[in-house]
Amino acid sequence: MANCSFFTDNVNLLVKLRSFVRFDRCLALACTVFATVAFSAQPMLQDKQWNHGSADCAVNKDPAIEVHSYSSTSYILRQNKCQSFEAPFMYLLIGEDSALLLDTGATADAVAFPLYETVNALVGEKHLLVVHSHGHRDHIAADPQFDNREGVTLVTAGGSGYLETLGIMNWPDGEGRVDLGGRELRVIPVPGHQEESIAIYDPETQWLLTGDTVYPGLIYVKNWDDYRMSIARLARFASANDVSMVLGAHIEVTHRQGEYYPVGTSYQPEEAPLPINPATLSLMHTELEKLPKANEVELARLRIIPMNLMQRTLTDFARWMMK
Ligand SMILES: [Zn+2]
Repeated sequence: MANCSFFTDNVNLLVKLRSFVRFDRCLALACTVFATVAFSAQPMLQDKQWNHGSADCAVNKDPAIEVHSYSSTSYILRQNKCQSFEAPFMYLLIGEDSALLLDTGATADAVAFPLYETVNALVGEKHLLVVHSHGHRDHIAADPQFDNREGVTLVTAGGSGYLETLGIMNWPDGEGRVDLGGRELRVIPVPGHQEESIAIYDPETQWLLTGDTVYPGLIYVKNWDDYRMSIARLARFASANDVSMVLGAHIEVTHRQGEYYPVGTSYQPEEAPLPINPATLSLMHTELEKLPKANEVELARLRIIPMNLMQRTLTDFARWMMK
C-alpha cells in the first residue's frame, strides 16, 4: 500500500513492533499458520470475502496464506493480516511450460509463512519465474525462500536482468512480454508509486495486475509526474484491450465509500471487493489531468496521495538500505 511505501519502507518501528508482538503472541498460542490447500473454486471475485484478520489475533485460526483457486491455472494468495497488517495479495499464473509468481509477501520466515512450499505444490514440475509488482518490503520479503531453488528464476525489481527478463526494451514507454507457454503475459511499466513498478496483463483471465499502483485503498505516490503518465498508460491499455478486472496488492477500505481502516490494523471486517472496475482507470486519468500540481484525489474506493518530502526521503533511505 500506501502502507507499504510509507510505513513498511519508512521502517515505522512502532507499527512494526506492534505487528511483531501480535504475531509473536499468535505463535505462542499456537495460532494456526499452515498454508491451506483447501481451495475454493469460485470465479466471482467481486463477491469473494477474504480472510481479514481478527480483533484479537490470539484467537485467529486462519492459515498464514489463503489460496483462492480462480481456475486450475490462476491463483490469488493473501497473507494473513494477523501475520502482517499489510496482508498483501500475490498472484500465481501457470502456463503450459512455466509459471509466474507476482510478489512474495511481507514475511521471510518459511515456517511461519510457507510461500515456496505452497506455490511449489501448485506449480509442480514446471519452471517458476518470480517477479515483483515493485520492490517494497511487503512484496519481496519471502524472496530468500525462492533463491537458488532448482527450477526457479528469481528476478528482483530493478535488479540484474530485470528488464531483459520482462522483455522491456524501452522503459517506461515500451511494453514487455513473458511467455509461459500458451499464455503470453504483457508487462507495462508503471513508475510513480515506486521507481520499478510494473503492471501485468494476463490474456487468459483478462486480469490487469497493478500492485500498489491501483488498488482499493490509500495509494501513496512518490513521483507524481511519473504516476500520472503511468495511469494514462494503463487507461490507454484498458481501452484498447479486454480487461475483465483490475487487481491490486491490498485492500484498505470498507465497502462504504471513503471509510478506510486505521493503518496497522490487524482486523478489517466488511472489506471492499478486491477487483476494481477497469473504467476506474479512465476516471483516475481524467482526475489526475485536471490537477495543475500534486494533490489528493478521492474516488469511490481509493485515494491517491502525493508523498511529502519527508516521506520521499524515507522511502529513498529504505530503498538504499535494501540494496
Ligand atoms: Zn508499495
